[in-house]
Amino acid sequence: MTTPQAIAPNGIVVVGGGIAGMTAAAALAQQGFKVTLLESAPQFGEIGAGVTLSPNAMLGLDFIGVCETAAAAGVEPVRQRIQHYEDGRTLVAKDRSSQREKYGAPYVTIHRADLHDVLLGAARAAGVDLRCGAAVVSSDGASVTLADGSTVSGDLIVGADGVKSVIRQRFDTAPPHFTGHVAWRCLVPVTPQLQELSDFPGIIIGPGAMITRYNIRNSTAMNLVFFSRQDGWNEEGWTTAADPDEVRRVYADWCQDAQTLIEAACQQPMFKWAINARTALPNWTLDDNVTLIGDAAHAMTPFLGHGAACGIEDGVVLARALAASSSIAEGLQRYEAARHERCTFIQSESNANADRMQGQKTDFFGLEGMKDEESLGLFTYDCRTVPV
Ligand SMILES: Cc1cc2nc3c(=O)[nH]c(=O)nc-3n(C[C@H](O)[C@H](O)[C@H](O)COP(=O)(O)OP(=O)(O)OC[C@H]3O[C@@H](n4cnc5c(N)ncnc54)[C@H](O)[C@@H]3O)c2cc1C
Repeated sequence: MTTPQAIAPNGIVVVGGGIAGMTAAAALAQQGFKVTLLESAPQFGEIGAGVTLSPNAMLGLDFIGVCETAAAAGVEPVRQRIQHYEDGRTLVAKDRSSQREKYGAPYVTIHRADLHDVLLGAARAAGVDLRCGAAVVSSDGASVTLADGSTVSGDLIVGADGVKSVIRQRFDTAPPHFTGHVAWRCLVPVTPQLQELSDFPGIIIGPGAMITRYNIRNSTAMNLVFFSRQDGWNEEGWTTAADPDEVRRVYADWCQDAQTLIEAACQQPMFKWAINARTALPNWTLDDNVTLIGDAAHAMTPFLGHGAACGIEDGVVLARALAASSSIAEGLQRYEAARHERCTFIQSESNANADRMQGQKTDFFGLEGMKDEESLGLFTYDCRTVPV
């Protein structure tokens, strides 16, 4: 059998230490590959927000040995609901109490920084050469050039550098596009006023907008995201402070539950994001020495909560595909064959879900059969065993 050292004697260079890059680096190193991870930020970390990890994402974490550590750092909701914006009535209730039995892994909501700590621990334990303050400015062949002019080379470059990916420019020089959705994001402590909303988390939906809430950190805090369709704004960043009056204005005629969430949010640091995405690429591998994973490959709208999940799955499948192959070319071919169709489907269904959830017919939502991440079958995918 061909060994990882024979396939990639000079090692694999992962560009970007977010959820996808860190998972891939850990998985590749665990398979025996020599891995260097380059992260532009001065320190490893994640933004101050939450993320939902569906059971299929948690199976990916299981592959790298951290499913239960991540579950313990997060919260496993037993139920969720979708509410009507006018009066807060429940349109759809979801039982999440038996996700482990149904899918072999839990459904978890977690602070991104807590997840990132777990992934960093896995990458470190697997022996990844972790370098922060290492911003890649260009890439050619199996090499990258850093902002300080130095180069790092290997046998394969894995672009895990997010929606504004530098590595993706080898495939597509177009910048990301603004999707017409903005999000205001913040974390709030669970006060007695918020207890009921925290006990039954979920989404309030209305025409052109929705509000998501879920618990993190032992249910002492809630992650809130206020989504709205807006034109003419595309700043993406964690530093654009929200104008509380703008948030109040957008949801002015929404129900009491929405007002309670808005008032809690306006007491906390809140940031406004443009949701940018990428059009699907026909190929994710080039010249047998570069590939893409995560948002660099397929940044999508967050309306199925599956961007991070896809990045985790990509990382695991890439590692398995390379480990099962006798050359990088073969491994990349297997990786793309195993992943491209699923990610492109999820990308397109995420957009469709925005239309479903933020359509004009909130009164009828859920009556014609639900199409969501669970009913679309996304939870049954097992990246640990899917054929490569
Ligand atoms: C409002 C919102 C809510 C979401 N909710 C969910 C959810 O509940 N569930 C879910 O699964 N997904 C969700 N997503 C999507 C998810 O956040 C992303 O898909 C995921 O974080 C992408 O991970 P990534 O590692 O591919 O990219 P990123 O997280 O963007 O990481 C890229 C990393 O690369 C680094 N980097 C960038 N450029 C360079 C460079 N030139 N050189 C070196 N390093 C570089 C960055 O600093 C960063 O650390 C949501 C997205 C949004 C906007």
